[in-house]
Amino acid sequence: MSLTTTEYNSLLREYEQRRLEGEKELHRRKEEVVRAIPAIAEIDEQLVHGSVTAAKLALTGNTSALDALARTNEWLIRQKKQLLTGAGYPADYLEPHYTCPHCKDTGVVILRSADGTTAQRPCTCFRRAIIERYYMEDGLRKRLEKENFATFNLGYYSDRRIDESTGQTYRAIAEAALRDAKSFTEAFGSSYNNLLISGFSGVGKTFLANCIAGNLLSRGYTVLYLSAFRLFEIFEHYRFGDRDLSKQASMDFDNILDCDLLIVDDLGTEMSNTYTTSQLFVCLEERDREKKSTLITTNLTMDDLSKRYSERIASRLFLFRYIKLFADDIRVQQIL
Ligand SMILES: [Zn+2]
Repeated sequence: MSLTTTEYNSLLREYEQRRLEGEKELHRRKEEVVRAIPAIAEIDEQLVHGSVTAAKLALTGNTSALDALARTNEWLIRQKKQLLTGAGYPADYLEPHYTCPHCKDTGVVILRSADGTTAQRPCTCFRRAIIERYYMEDGLRKRLEKENFATFNLGYYSDRRIDESTGQTYRAIAEAALRDAKSFTEAFGSSYNNLLISGFSGVGKTFLANCIAGNLLSRGYTVLYLSAFRLFEIFEHYRFGDRDLSKQASMDFDNILDCDLLIVDDLGTEMSNTYTTSQLFVCLEERDREKKSTLITTNLTMDDLSKRYSERIASRLFLFRYIKLFADDIRVQQIL
């Protein structure tokens, strides 16, 4: 559950290992191809020779000879591709195959700003690896396999029971909730939205949140899933923890602000105080400023939320897209 420097370094070593294996594998493919198509080795030699000649020509400023050489090189590269595919190899067989093309398996991307300055940032794949490794318990991983949009069962929502405030059946409300959750998921990344899923225990709130989480994770987004209890625990450690704990909590806190989707499960079940509640506001405010989505599930009604938390938190939550679910406790239905 926690990320120490040792673990962080071990992740870096894994990336290094992945790059080395990639290079070894590329070398192996090159040898294999040269054995099968010796003409490719000759083309490679001509290409190397060409690049030496190009360097010399560049010094003399002979641009017409340089152009001619560039055309020859292009022709050689085309020839090489034709030989390769003609022998039944994929066209990219001699290119490096990266697990992550964005960072070329280094875990780092270099951002260039308009004024020409550069900055290094952890690649999304690296952030995701950290989050998956240190926050996703095995139990949750298994649950995401079982709880997804394909397995969401509307049969648990009665088509006879009616919610009096809307006059709609539980089934109709669940159908609308499922549509909303799907549209939230599909639009993720192109439009900014937050989601509040409310309802009593056992109506499928966490299930619906898991559907969204699993879909986004499979599309490469960083999703951080925390029970409200754990979230507030991190807030608490961030302030009061001993030095190591605070360092950890500060890293946790960065991830809470930084992940693409933050899921807070069962808001209202945590032990909170004025300080942790104010941290919740900081977190919501900061994520909103960065246009990063938050999904909250809760047993509490809007009324309860404004009573329990500060007015400024409640007013933030009122802006969330609101999904409400009604059902006779699904866990009980499953047992019956
Ligand atoms: Zn990457």
